[in-house]
Amino acid sequence: MHLACHECDLLQSIPPLSERGTAKCGRCGAVLVRHKPNSIERTLALAVTGLILFILANAFPILEFEINGEITATTLIGAVGSLYASGEWPLAVVVFLTTQAAPLSQILIKLYVYLPLWLNRVPWRPGVAFRLLLEIEPWSMMSVFMLGILVSVVKLAKMAHILPGTSLWAFVLLIVVLAAAVASMDTALVWQRLEASR
Ligand SMILES: [Zn+2]
Repeated sequence: MHLACHECDLLQSIPPLSERGTAKCGRCGAVLVRHKPNSIERTLALAVTGLILFILANAFPILEFEINGEITATTLIGAVGSLYASGEWPLAVVVFLTTQAAPLSQILIKLYVYLPLWLNRVPWRPGVAFRLLLEIEPWSMMSVFMLGILVSVVKLAKMAHILPGTSLWAFVLLIVVLAAAVASMDTALVWQRLEASR
């Protein structure tokens, strides 16, 4: 792997590092690569936890609508469906992208890359998958995700009540777990493993 020093711009090749290894610049001593210990196991464990939370968050009702005096509880994906059906399609799309598509694709691609790595194997087209993950990650990170939820909550609050149940808590935990899964990733280590396997 070749890397330019972020301090002095010296281009140098980084040898494969051990699990807790650190690579420093040969000229100025700046730290170029520092591996996070157990990064692959931790990221994988967080991705699995995220998937379970995602399923829980969508398996239980989170909203309560009152339509013509009748109270109906619905899951978030059910709410997306009713929003779409009632002509509120821009809101339906925002809620769908931020609370469903973004977290689920992030979790699934992470599992796709990290599960084989953990088993010392390499997934099909790993570079494409990992690059895609790095692309969607900032996009699906906290701010957008939170904003989407905030917008939906504020907008939906006029039409519905939020149920403080399993689904809501699973969503709150999911945000925390997704952020932790991003923090535990060691991009340099993954590239090193993928290159070594070629
Ligand atoms: Zn340097």
